[in-house]
Amino acid sequence: MKIGSYNFNMSLILDEIKKHGYKTVLLQAPEGVKKYVFQVVDEIETKTKAKVMISTDPCYGACDIPVHAAKQLGVDLVVQLGHLPIPNLKLPLPVLFMNIVADAREEESVKKAIEKLEGTKIGVVTTAQHIEKLPQMVSVLKKNGFIPVVGKGDNRIARDGQVLGCNMSTAQSISDKVDCFLFVGTGRFHPLGIALATSKPVVSANPFTLEVLKSEINEEKKKLMKKRYGAIAAAYNAKTFGIVVSVKPGQMRMKTARVLEKKLENAGKKVYILIADDINPSLAKTFDVDCLVSTACPRVVLDEAERFEIPLLTPTEVDILLEETNKYKLDTLQ
Ligand code: SF4
Repeated sequence: MKIGSYNFNMSLILDEIKKHGYKTVLLQAPEGVKKYVFQVVDEIETKTKAKVMISTDPCYGACDIPVHAAKQLGVDLVVQLGHLPIPNLKLPLPVLFMNIVADAREEESVKKAIEKLEGTKIGVVTTAQHIEKLPQMVSVLKKNGFIPVVGKGDNRIARDGQVLGCNMSTAQSISDKVDCFLFVGTGRFHPLGIALATSKPVVSANPFTLEVLKSEINEEKKKLMKKRYGAIAAAYNAKTFGIVVSVKPGQMRMKTARVLEKKLENAGKKVYILIADDINPSLAKTFDVDCLVSTACPRVVLDEAERFEIPLLTPTEVDILLEETNKYKLDTLQ
């Protein structure tokens, strides 16, 4: 089925609903896809006996299943469009993850990126949105004399070659076998994450705009490091900490929060555990703490910290703050 410029296999959704005789479905989609979901609802309701409700809340990833809403509503199935599953995430109700692929020019973007690649062994990484075109990306590289290498991620990763903003294990698994990484996808967060996690050169190819970035990624990495060390320095005199724990199923890290709590208390700090669904700057205004530590999606800290009035750190940055290490480590979820 095609909705807007996105394609996915509608028959898998219909088959799943019919097979189990599901009567109520909660449909979830990322922001860019939400405006097309009426077509999906109509198709399901016409071709099965199920009634469909649409979740209007933001949907950031496969980590973000509206478990509480689904349980309160008593739905039989959650269908999440736009993401691959997180294999090691255990969920208390049936969820069907339906990846969608956008009309994009992945092969062309790889061709454009070639002149910026370093060496011959190229680690190829991408996101769920473009993963179906991975064989074509690999083939373009081979035809041009490169040796493409595709990594295997840990149990949080569904497909070879796939990276998540919170998990770069696919890139890390091949880091010592490649000269450089080629990331095919949009935005700067993933290539920046690969650069931070592997310390290898990263070329980022956008399959929509055909923009290719390399030195920019390196520059961003330097800028980000400056900002993060600035935030850590700003937290040196903090006495009271709020450790934020997300209730999103794939972001909840209570164990990490408890470990941090102990470390900070041992260092003489006062600690409060703050439970949140969305982590936003109002937390810094509402609670009288000197520093917040987010154990949720690492992107919140790296993308949003400047919007907070007080330092917002990742768990790995607390280790630097407490002088347990002086090496910056990207915060990741397993
Ligand atoms: S934790 Fe963040 S980066 Fe990871 S899947 Fe969820 S939204 Fe994406």
